[in-house]
Amino acid sequence: MRLPLTGTCQCGSIRYEIRGEPLSVYACHCTECQRQSAGAFALSMPVARDAVVVLSGKPKSWRRTTESGRVIQCIFCPQCGVRLFHNPESNPDISVVKPGTLDETGWLFPVGHIWTRSAQPWFKIPLDAICYEGQPPDLTKLTAAWRARSSRPTAGKN
Ligand SMILES: [Zn+2]
Ligand SMILES: [Zn+2]
Repeated sequence: MRLPLTGTCQCGSIRYEIRGEPLSVYACHCTECQRQSAGAFALSMPVARDAVVVLSGKPKSWRRTTESGRVIQCIFCPQCGVRLFHNPESNPDISVVKPGTLDETGWLFPVGHIWTRSAQPWFKIPLDAICYEGQPPDLTKLTAAWRARSSRPTAGKN
């Protein structure tokens, strides 16, 4: 994994760059992520918000209030509808990138799983993963696990 990371929506009208190290990568099994991704879970990659730079196209956003009362700006491509970033209003330093939109995804690995109480029953969560039944109180453990993984000599070669 080499900076800057680059990514795009499905139709290609929005291109973006991530100029800072990912703080973590984790999987969210909440029912909103299942619906939004139209799949079993979504990957989340928090980064410093000022590390996210849109290079082309004009993303749109809508605001969603979560079950726990947090408000999230959901940033998406108005042409193809692909979700790109989630910006939590309660944490203006962080942007949560949807890392499946990156150009290179082979290095992605979720160190944690959140909202496991609504995970699809066939999905086997690895025993060494950081798990939360619902929303984690903060990202401390998820960022520490990511840092530990990234500093291993075999990591980061991709
Ligand atoms: Zn698009
Ligand atoms: Zn979720």
